[in-house]
Amino acid sequence: METITQTAAGMPVPGLSRAGNEIKSFAKSASRQISEIIVHCSATPAGRNVRCSEIRRWHMADRGFSDIGYHFVIALDGTVETGRPLSQPGAHCVGHNRKSIGICYIGGVDHKGNASDTRTISQKEALTRLILIIKQAFPNVRVHGHRDFARKECPSFDAASEYAGLTVHDFSRKR
Ligand SMILES: [Zn+2]
Repeated sequence: METITQTAAGMPVPGLSRAGNEIKSFAKSASRQISEIIVHCSATPAGRNVRCSEIRRWHMADRGFSDIGYHFVIALDGTVETGRPLSQPGAHCVGHNRKSIGICYIGGVDHKGNASDTRTISQKEALTRLILIIKQAFPNVRVHGHRDFARKECPSFDAASEYAGLTVHDFSRKR
């Protein structure tokens, strides 16, 4: 059984405390310098419950990656799943992998296949909390969406603007 961490809003975020422990020990190890968090979507239709293990299969079988390209995956119910170990650069954003942490939320397209911000309330909560934990460990990190660096719509919302004002200070005050 995984520990469930309560959010400021009282909403449980399964997997968050495990992710937090991984982030803290990674920061201590200083195996890579992190300056960016890059947010992605899985480009799967709203409501389709894809898990980390399925994306791992796609990336390994279809793209020939050694592992899933993202470090964290946020399931529809807000569960934070662990992807590629943080000590290893991801494979999610050309030219930015070495210095970044890649987070993918499940969804991002509507039923017609058009880009759409399909994040559930639980996914938004989990994403905010995960980003805050990373910012605690790497205070100068900046949040971007994949689309800031590639001609893509991923993650189907403006992550840079949405999370620009998110600070660890707010986090501690809220709690
Ligand atoms: Zn992407």
